Amino acid sequence: MLIAQAPGEKEDKEGRMFIGPSGKVLDKLLTKAGVSREEIYMTNLIKCMLPKYRKPRQDEIKACSYYLNEEIKLINPEVLVPLGYYATHYIFEKYGISLPSKEEFSSVFDKLFLAKDKKILPLPHPATLLYNPELKPDLIKSYRKLGVLLTDCKWYPVCPMRSFYEEGKLDRKWIELYCKGDWESCVRYQMEEEGKVHPDWMLPDGSLDDKLRKEIKHGDNHLQLFFYERYQESYHSLLQMFYTLLFSQYHSSPIRSIKTSILSSASLIDIFSVTYFHH
Ligand code: SF4
Repeated sequence: MLIAQAPGEKEDKEGRMFIGPSGKVLDKLLTKAGVSREEIYMTNLIKCMLPKYRKPRQDEIKACSYYLNEEIKLINPEVLVPLGYYATHYIFEKYGISLPSKEEFSSVFDKLFLAKDKKILPLPHPATLLYNPELKPDLIKSYRKLGVLLTDCKWYPVCPMRSFYEEGKLDRKWIELYCKGDWESCVRYQMEEEGKVHPDWMLPDGSLDDKLRKEIKHGDNHLQLFFYERYQESYHSLLQMFYTLLFSQYHSSPIRSIKTSILSSASLIDIFSVTYFHH
């Protein structure tokens, strides 16, 4: 559900969302993100046009919020996307998310938040581009997240984070915010895309979780842990070398014999395959 601030003149007359100049900008941003209008429910925080496009007052927000709250109840969207300062401010207050100062407010844009059963993705209002066309690349990047949120991360079926979550060892927020949310911001995902390996106990924000590491100590991946702890500095390059060798297309006899000896070594496969096949 996209929540804009208030209708413009044309929208107010016709009772339709985003049909004026901001609407044209929004359509272009959605097209770039690979999202169609039909996939989104659109509404406003304030239900009537504000005289001379002035900022909304608190009493106006209070009067109109009843309708917005009812819409949220009826539509029950999984993701709320407030556009601009006022809509974001209202939604943050409604869901008890702490608000940054006005000066730092733009830091919340493009970030995914989790509150109760809702994901909240504040975005800059498309009208921003009418006044600041130089921000076009930034807004294209921001709105791209809408396309990202429409699918789960492609690694989810085989990701260790999924196993940890299903075993009750990982908080739901990691899955909702990353695996079924903004997976493009996941450090594990980014490393994977760059062909970099990482330990199974690395969380989506890139931090290493000691509790998960201990779980692995008692689980199947103990040899991976053993190597990671002892040879941390060279662990990544060792693994890269191993994968390159094992899955290379070179079939010269020395490489073939190395591959054969690797494949015949159950312990080495145990050490490395867990990392490879989990991702
Ligand atoms: S943890 Fe990251 S890489 Fe793994 S499924 Fe979630 S988003 Fe994808």
